[in-house]
Amino acid sequence: AKGAGKRQWRRFHPVLQAGMIERHELQASLDSAVAESSFQVLYQPIVEIASGALEGFEALVRWPHHTRGLVPPEQFITLAEESGQIVPLGAWVLGHAAAEASRWQQTASECLDGHDGLDGGAGPRKQLYVSVNVSARQFRDPGFVDVVRQTLDGHSMEPSSLILELTESVLMRRDERVRTDMMTLSDLGVRLAIDDFGTGYSSLSYLREFPITILKIDKSFIDGLGKSSQQYALVEGITRIAETLGVRVIAEGIESARQRDLLAVMGCPLGQGYLFARPMGADQAESLIRASKDL
Ligand code: C2E
Ligand code: CA
Ligand code: CA
Ligand code: CA
Repeated sequence: AKGAGKRQWRRFHPVLQAGMIERHELQASLDSAVAESSFQVLYQPIVEIASGALEGFEALVRWPHHTRGLVPPEQFITLAEESGQIVPLGAWVLGHAAAEASRWQQTASECLDGHDGLDGGAGPRKQLYVSVNVSARQFRDPGFVDVVRQTLDGHSMEPSSLILELTESVLMRRDERVRTDMMTLSDLGVRLAIDDFGTGYSSLSYLREFPITILKIDKSFIDGLGKSSQQYALVEGITRIAETLGVRVIAEGIESARQRDLLAVMGCPLGQGYLFARPMGADQAESLIRASKDL
């Protein structure tokens, strides 16, 4: 029995160790990445489903790693949440997104100059917003509201052009401070969204309990849209209830024209997905705004 145990240990040991070293290594290089702010932010368009008109962008962080290439967020966000590094990293992303959003505003208004707005062309553009992911740990940090305030001030940014995407895990806890912080942000004019709706302990009562004005329906629901009438009914129901409560719905992960058309029929106002555009660099986002074409 002893021998067998030893053999097993031998067998698993290298794997375990490799996992630990891997994790340790990633953690350490994440530390210096946070210190040196060596991240990138990509922006994915959010559009009006019926027209394809650009509404705003979601900011999505990337980590260009010298040996691993562009590390996707799933691989380091969790790690950064566990270590607390998500607090400075999240503040950095927020700052970047705010800087970018101010530039878009300027671009959009420049594009309007020299345009009489009467020829049915681009027309007066709505204010484009930027939507930023906020992890639970980051939101619960006592300095978070001040970080948002300073970011808005620092970029003279209209609060309503900032959306903060929160996951259900933030709302689940019934934490009184979470609620007051949400109230403070909402009073500032910042808009709050529930992200990945449908994946956690989803409850439409969150929409009554918290100052939430946007609901993002998770991709897993959109995937099933054309496949099952039940799935269609579910998405339609969520959309109806949300819109009745004055909450705007964004469908995530739209990949096919069929999904888009079904969403348009049920009256889902906003969407995001590879069908319209993939996440892109800031320069590309700016060109898209300049081109002022529907997606
Ligand atoms: P998320 O917030 O649900 O973001 C949407 C993800 O779906 C993004 O993946 C986006 O690239 C991807 N996506 C968009 N449209 C489509 C589509 O049509 N098909 C498919 N297959 N995928 C689509 P990404 O950029 O890899 O981000 C993954 C997750 O990492 C995000 O999910 C979010 O939870 C987290 N994340 C990304 N950036 C940040 C950040 O700055 N802060 C925090 N806390 N989390 C972030
Ligand atoms: Ca999101
Ligand atoms: Ca999402
Ligand atoms: Ca997600």
